[in-house]
Amino acid sequence: MPKTRKPDVDAGPPTVMCKPAAMDCVFCRIVDGTADASVVHEDDRLLAFCDINPVNPGHLLIIPKIHRVGLVDLDKSDGSQMFVVAQRLAAAVRRSGLRCEAVNLFLADGPAAGQEVFHVHLHMFPRYRGDRFRLDSGQRPASRTDLDQVAARVRAVL
Ligand code: 5GP
Ligand code: ZN
Repeated sequence: MPKTRKPDVDAGPPTVMCKPAAMDCVFCRIVDGTADASVVHEDDRLLAFCDINPVNPGHLLIIPKIHRVGLVDLDKSDGSQMFVVAQRLAAAVRRSGLRCEAVNLFLADGPAAGQEVFHVHLHMFPRYRGDRFRLDSGQRPASRTDLDQVAARVRAVL
């Protein structure tokens, strides 16, 4: 069962303080315990909890405890550990009895990608046939020439 984190009124100031720039960040408030969340995983570096507007029941968010806006800011070991935790949570959701025929991982890095909370987070959500989630941009196959040009541009700056 997920536990609910609630601020402890008698506990004094939170032990994990946000940097001033992150004081208006809802995920930092969840980390420091001043906002509620239904937590499924916590370790020294990461926290995972239920999304408040789930695509399907079992929709989880995995975040670094330290405030980082996007992928470019994210510590590499935190980034890789976020994926490891997502793998483990996906397996747990599959075993949980929640409806889960498949899983999506999703990370929005920037407003044009749909990022709404500017504290980097990896979504993990269960999927099943007939659910209402849609990610269909009507994309078409590209030519090999175009794909090779794109690959060359990316390789050139790796
Ligand atoms: P984004 O669009 O930035 O990738 O996703 C942000 C996610 O954070 C959304 O799915 C939204 O439902 C979730 N969210 C926003 N505010 C809160 C909150 O206060 N608590 C929790 N648990 N999730 C939140
Ligand atoms: Zn934050």
